[in-house]
Amino acid sequence: MPMIRDQYGRSFRTLRVSLVSHCNLGCVYCVAGDETVKAAGASKNDGRLSVPSLLDTIGRLHTLLDLQTIRLTGGEPLLYTGLSELVRGIGDLGIPAIKLTTNAFLLHRLAGPLKEAGLTSINVSLDAVDEDIFYKMSRRHSVARVIQGIDAALEAGMEVKINAVIMRGINDGQILPLLELASSRGCRIRFLEVMAMGHLHNQAEKYLFSQQDILSVISSRHTVRPLGRSTSATAGYWQTEVGQEFGVIANETVPFCSDCDRLRLDSSGNIYGCLSSNHPIRLDGQDDNLVWADRLHQALLQKQPLRFTGSGLSMMYIGG
Ligand code: SAM
Repeated sequence: MPMIRDQYGRSFRTLRVSLVSHCNLGCVYCVAGDETVKAAGASKNDGRLSVPSLLDTIGRLHTLLDLQTIRLTGGEPLLYTGLSELVRGIGDLGIPAIKLTTNAFLLHRLAGPLKEAGLTSINVSLDAVDEDIFYKMSRRHSVARVIQGIDAALEAGMEVKINAVIMRGINDGQILPLLELASSRGCRIRFLEVMAMGHLHNQAEKYLFSQQDILSVISSRHTVRPLGRSTSATAGYWQTEVGQEFGVIANETVPFCSDCDRLRLDSSGNIYGCLSSNHPIRLDGQDDNLVWADRLHQALLQKQPLRFTGSGLSMMYIGG
């Protein structure tokens, strides 16, 4: 099988899987005000891929790419029925790191079974500690429920990171309280610049609170020293004088496309080589591995050479 690599030396070593394209929150960067947020607690698989079908696809991709990490996401991945079975199956395929990104609304119940199934790490999205601002960002209550999920995952023995998208004029006053929360739980936190995706494709700039702005806020309270960014990682990291580590994912102002190794699989079985592409590439289970390798080459060509340009597709569908 040919080595799948582009002219910049990039290949796919991380697979992000969007398990369902719906969510029980309606975050303002994902969902426009006029879109319907599907009911909280929806438990159907949204007519999406079954556990055996997903394992078949992931297994074939692993054969072709020697995947090092798989991240389960969505939509909201905890709404996918059969999640523990899926995690166990991915472990059996020999993929070393199995991670999940979630809003944590259902995590207090699922943390234990997921850890037992082999999940190694969880990223929890939490954009505010203040309840009113949390509601403005997510159109749901409550912060306490998310924190309960974080604590359950920590108690279960998983690594937990907190992710917070910072939007100018909405939650930029929450950076220090969020940092404090992360510190109280001994977790790393990453602050994200808002990305030009979905309904924000042409207006993300209006809300952009840049890496430099984020560092200014934190530096007003703390002395910070840079720790750098690991190869292919999304975040650069810093450490405060009391040892708290935090990261910034600066897609817009400090793009990290040059060594991106991420491939995305949506909940209908299409792949995307880049968040900036809204052109799905179909993977058909009937085709042989040579055809799949060709599709993967096509996906690699979707990657931007240097910077993220965004797309009209919301991260809900392509997997955040
Ligand atoms: N529902 C899960 C969650 O809330 O973590 C997983 C999917 S959600 C799409 C994952 C994350 O994508 C969000 O929490 C946010 O960090 C990120 N995201 C989505 N749209 C974004 C945007 N326009 N700009 C920056 N981050 C975004």
